Amino acid sequence: MADDFTIAVALEGQLRLDDQPALQEAVALARRQPGARLLLLACRPEGLRLRGPQQRRLEAEALDSLRTRLAAVGIPLLHFPQHTTAQALAAIAPERRPALVLQAHESRLFADWPLPAATFPRVFSDFRRGLGTPPEPPLPPPPLDGLGGSLEVGEGWPGCAPVPGPQPFHPRADPRSAFPFRGDEPTALARLQHYVVGSEGLRTYKASRNGLVGTEFSSKVSPFLAIGSLSVRRIWHTVLRYQELHGADEGSEWMKQELLWREFFLWSEQCHGARFHAPGGIQERPPQWREDRECFRRWTRGDSGHPLIDAQLQELLATGYLSNRGRQWVASHFIHDLRLPWIWGARFFEWALIDAHPALNTGNWAYLAGVGSDPRSFGGTPRRFNLERQQQLYDPEERHRQLWL
Ligand SMILES: Cc1cc2nc3c(=O)[nH]c(=O)nc-3n(C[C@H](O)[C@H](O)[C@H](O)COP(=O)(O)OP(=O)(O)OC[C@H]3O[C@@H](n4cnc5c(N)ncnc54)[C@H](O)[C@@H]3O)c2cc1C
Repeated sequence: MADDFTIAVALEGQLRLDDQPALQEAVALARRQPGARLLLLACRPEGLRLRGPQQRRLEAEALDSLRTRLAAVGIPLLHFPQHTTAQALAAIAPERRPALVLQAHESRLFADWPLPAATFPRVFSDFRRGLGTPPEPPLPPPPLDGLGGSLEVGEGWPGCAPVPGPQPFHPRADPRSAFPFRGDEPTALARLQHYVVGSEGLRTYKASRNGLVGTEFSSKVSPFLAIGSLSVRRIWHTVLRYQELHGADEGSEWMKQELLWREFFLWSEQCHGARFHAPGGIQERPPQWREDRECFRRWTRGDSGHPLIDAQLQELLATGYLSNRGRQWVASHFIHDLRLPWIWGARFFEWALIDAHPALNTGNWAYLAGVGSDPRSFGGTPRRFNLERQQQLYDPEERHRQLWL
């Protein structure tokens, strides 16, 4: 079919307008081509494992918001929940063949290998010390006016489904949730601003980040990052702006360090491929475990037999969010006390977490299982948490346990 000059941008799970290099490029090209129009494709990112219910809700909210904002300038957002971009393009080819397709990529601080892939470090401290160039600045959202139009695009096309409308509120209805936010980009940006600029959050982050209860002990940006409604370069840049105004205090430096942990795991996964997710991890030494399915089944229902852990699991099941400290306890108990296969626990987290991300999730589980990037575990014993001691340190008044059990 004869095509006008349509440029398609495949979002690849990056559900935002801010800091989208592919969208910027598409807009720049379209401005040089009279009559050119944009079309956005929201397809299933290549290789994505099934999202759990909490994350699907967040994704639907981000898509709905994006569709509304694009519709205001007449740009269609086509949603192919089951198709990859290649499959979606094949499906619509008889009706419309875009002149150009640009693909978005997952938001990272560095667009290319920050350290050579061939000698990529196995531990975080070497990664951090080896970094030379600073992260690239984010791109602002491009003006989209005049790039829409009367494209005859339809939800009747094979595989194309309506963008889900506003979602039922049930997970957020739990007033105890540490993540009571919607998943859309405006909410993500507002949360970032609140945490960095509109509150004491960032300044006190180093002291508060091991908290267990409430919205303010950490930034809560991970769910937005997981569905791409927030750019990590935008977060980094906002922290830098804060440091220009207030100086590089402990809180803001620590936040940068955590964002570098994210980066480290993303590039590690890319470096090691399937080995990264295998039982023996990057160390290639599968640990001893017992495949007790009944014990695992009870654990997935929040009935591990340990009250501290069960409170964490109840929070996870009810809201999809868990503090970093809580995740460490749960994983350590699963691996070292119950001696269950860490890959089972990791896979369950990937289904249950609202911020589930395969690289970050596996990276952390493998670290605690002693087969990943914990320097102590190379030839030594992995870290094991003494839960009673942890409770005294981080929740002496048992606030978390009382909230969830
Ligand atoms: C067993 C286990 C599983 C985990 N699974 C995931 C996961 O699937 N997805 C996920 O995003 N995080 C995961 N984490 C890391 C961490 O717990 C969460 O990123 C953090 O709790 C999210 O809340 P926040 O955004 O408020 O974090 P903040 O403390 O405010 O940190 C800001 C950002 O830094 C990054 N970050 C912080 N801690 C880590 C870390 N340990 N590893 C990598 N990046 C980090 C995240 O992008 C986070 O959003 C896991 C940790 C453990 C111990």
